[in-house]
Amino acid sequence: MKYDYLIVGAGLFGSIFAYEAGKRGKKCLVIDKRSHIAGNIYTNKIEDINVHQYGAHIFHTSNEKVWSYIQQFAKFNRYTNSPVAVYKEELYNLPFNMNTFHQLWKVNSPAQAKEMIQKQIKESGITNPKNLEEQAISLVGKDIYEKLIKGYTQKQWGQSAKELPSFIIKRLPVRFTYDNNYFNDLYQGIPIGGYTQMIEKMLKDSEIRLNTDYFENREELYSLADKIVFTGMIDEFYNYQFGTLEYRSLSFESEVLEEENHQGNAVVNFTEYEIPYTRIIEHKHFEFGTQPKTVITREYPKTWTKGDEPYYPVNNEKNNKMYEQYKELAQKEETVIFGGRLAEYKYYDMHHVIEQALTCIEQEFD
Ligand code: FAD
Repeated sequence: MKYDYLIVGAGLFGSIFAYEAGKRGKKCLVIDKRSHIAGNIYTNKIEDINVHQYGAHIFHTSNEKVWSYIQQFAKFNRYTNSPVAVYKEELYNLPFNMNTFHQLWKVNSPAQAKEMIQKQIKESGITNPKNLEEQAISLVGKDIYEKLIKGYTQKQWGQSAKELPSFIIKRLPVRFTYDNNYFNDLYQGIPIGGYTQMIEKMLKDSEIRLNTDYFENREELYSLADKIVFTGMIDEFYNYQFGTLEYRSLSFESEVLEEENHQGNAVVNFTEYEIPYTRIIEHKHFEFGTQPKTVITREYPKTWTKGDEPYYPVNNEKNNKMYEQYKELAQKEETVIFGGRLAEYKYYDMHHVIEQALTCIEQEFD
C-alpha cells in the first residue's frame, strides 16, 4: 500500500488525525472535495481581513487538554463573543443579562428583572408547553420571546414556533449580572491570523489532494491505503440504504464595504422575522482589525436538499434512529474510522471535535 491512511476530509478532525499519524511516522493522503483545506473553519483573506467563509467561528472550551493542545498551532487573541441583537429599531445585548433587561424594561436591579420575568411567566398560564413558543414563554416570558427569540427561531428552522417541538429549547439561560460574554467557558479566543494557517501546520507532512470527492473515485482511492479515516456524511458512505439524514443549510452573502467600521461588533443578530437573514458578521472585529475597508457576511438559513452544504443535523427521533442503524454498520468496519460532525451526525463545536479526534488517536495508536 502506498499510504497508511487515506483521510477523507481536510477539516479539523481529519487534519488532527493526519498530524498525529504523521508524528508517529505514518504516511497519510488527505483528500477533500472542496477546493481548499480546513473544512468549515476555513478562513480566507479578503482586503487583508480573515473572512470566516462558513460562518462565524469562535473558539471556546473549558477543557484544559484541548486548550493546551490547540495552542501549538496558533496564538489566540482575547476575543470574547458578545453579540448584539437588533429588533426593529431597538438594540439589545446578548445573552439575556442585566443589560438586556435594562434595555427591555428600564429595570436596574436583579430583583426587578426577576420579578418582571416571573410576572410574565405567570401571566402566560402555561404549565405544560406543547410547542416551542409555549416552551420559550414558560421559561423567559413574553417580551424576551417576542422580541429576541420568535422571529430568529422561525427563520432558523423555516417553521412557525407554534409548529416546532418544545424540546428544541431545553433551557434559556438568563443572567442577573451585567455580563455580555456569550460563552461560560474558561478559555475563548480567535487564532491570530485565522484558522486556515492552523490546519496548514497540521497537514504539513501529508499529501493533499483537493477537488477530490471520495465517492467519485471510491475504488481507486480505497486501494491506496491500509485504512480510511472518513469525515464525510455517514449515510452517503452507505449509499443511503436506510434513508437520508436531514440537515438545515445556510447561504452566505459577503460584501466588501468602503468603510472602516460597519456595525461596531463582529456578530449582530437580526431577530425580526421580516429580515430574511439571521446575522451579519463583520469579520475584522474578530481580530480587532484596523484595515481601511471592511468585509461583512449576511447569513441566511435555508432548507437542505441533497447536494447543499449540510450544516446543522436535524436530530429528531426519526433521524437519530436512522443514524443508529448507520452507526451499527460503522462499528463493524475494521479498516474504516469514522469521525467528525458529518460521520457522527452531531452538531460539534471545534473543541468537541478536537476532543473526539484525540480520543480516536489514543484508541488507534496507544
Ligand atoms: P468539516 O469541517 O465539515 O470537515 C469535513 C470535510 O470533509 C469538509 O471539508 C468536506 O468538504 C469534506 N468531505 C465531505 N465529504 C467528502 C467526500 N465525499 N470526499 C471528500 N471530502 C469530503 N464551532 C465552534 O467551536 N465555535 C463556533 O463559533 C462555531 N460556529 C459555527 C458556525 C456555523 C455556521 C457552523 C455550521 C459550525 C460552527 N461551528 C463552531 C462548528 C465547527 O464548524 C465544527 O466543529 C468543525 O468545523 C467540524 O470539523 P469536522 O472536521 O468534523 O468537519
